[in-house]
Amino acid sequence: MNQINCPKGHGAMEPKKINRTVSFKGIEVNIAENAFVCPTCQLSAGTVQAAGKIQKTIADAYRKQTGLLTGEDIKRLRNEKDMAQADLAEISGFGLASIKRWETGAIQTQSADRTLRLHLLDECMENNMTGNRAFSIPRIKLVANAFEKVLCRAILIANDKMLFAAKYLWYADMIAKKEIGRSMTGATYAHLPLGPQLNNYRELLDDIQNADTLKTESLSDYELNIISRIAGRFPEDQMVFDASHKEPAWLKTRNGELISYFWADKLAVQID
Ligand SMILES: [Zn+2]
Repeated sequence: MNQINCPKGHGAMEPKKINRTVSFKGIEVNIAENAFVCPTCQLSAGTVQAAGKIQKTIADAYRKQTGLLTGEDIKRLRNEKDMAQADLAEISGFGLASIKRWETGAIQTQSADRTLRLHLLDECMENNMTGNRAFSIPRIKLVANAFEKVLCRAILIANDKMLFAAKYLWYADMIAKKEIGRSMTGATYAHLPLGPQLNNYRELLDDIQNADTLKTESLSDYELNIISRIAGRFPEDQMVFDASHKEPAWLKTRNGELISYFWADKLAVQID
């Protein structure tokens, strides 16, 4: 690196990281900037190199603060999977030009970020989609039956497509994931027009009705407690329906998209 001398004649300036806050896309972003500082008078000067990198630094700081993968993250994860940029473009459906731009500083949308994670973090994705538990149809029935007991009414009704039952189940799984680190049923949910729904629910309906609940681990007291709290909070179907439509998990996913258990920590409803 070339030496830069203090313009006030104090000799060589020293390279140093300077922290500052910049406003970017409506949020305050903290960045560490490379600059030269005079040890005598503290005068600082940006470097030509820093000037060229500053956009990328700001973009990456913004991505970190808003929970997006940074360009470095994408590149590192891609390399860990032995994927060329063209491979990632192909499996993700994004253009090669987009992958290149995201790796060098352009900011991907939230929805593009989720798709990238799906392909770059797939070993974690399985758990993100099941809440750290193997999928169990008998447990779905157990949880639904436990709700029926505290709600004093049936929620698993033949041919009703689980419109409301799925929302009680979804809250039970999400809150269990949030409070115990593990879902109750291992079910994967999808964003459907009428709210969170069991993924592929049509194929599961009969199996759930006919499941043998003796063939699975019974619900723990803590799980039953969660179910009671949810039932107490949402005694009516319409209440659980309305609440689920106000959840970030619902509002920030698109029609047909799977709803990751990542959203468990971002639930809008407080159930004490
Ligand atoms: Zn100086």
